[in-house]
Amino acid sequence: MTAEETIFSKIIRQEIPATLLYQDDLVTAFRDIQPKAPTHILIVPNKLIPTVNQVTSDDELAMGRLFTVARKLAEQEGIAEDGYRLIVNCNRHGGQEVYHLHMHLLGGEPLGGLLPQA
Ligand code: 5GP
Repeated sequence: MTAEETIFSKIIRQEIPATLLYQDDLVTAFRDIQPKAPTHILIVPNKLIPTVNQVTSDDELAMGRLFTVARKLAEQEGIAEDGYRLIVNCNRHGGQEVYHLHMHLLGGEPLGGLLPQA
């Protein structure tokens, strides 16, 4: 797979608007444009990694940072105690739409079962 830039690279470089919540040398976090829960944040490595299938050991620091930033943002959003869900979709069967790896942080209400009921 060729690593083609997505809209997320432009958000990371702040070339197009997004509600940015956090940015450092490794990751950027911003609100999802179509929230599926009261809190719906995307946490994205600054480096373009299309899917989990392209993650290498060189990316371990950035992948760990996704979790520490998720924890901080969950606290900041006031959802840490009630709980939340972290999701990383991969490819077609995972329902991935944007091919720049990202972690969804969802919370603010009971989220129901893990998968949509058929
Ligand atoms: P995926 O299905 O790939 O795991 O999730 C992609 C997410 O990116 C979706 O929840 C979608 O609403 C969000 N999204 C797509 N385009 C944009 C955008 O331009 N800005 C923001 N903030 N979110 C986006």
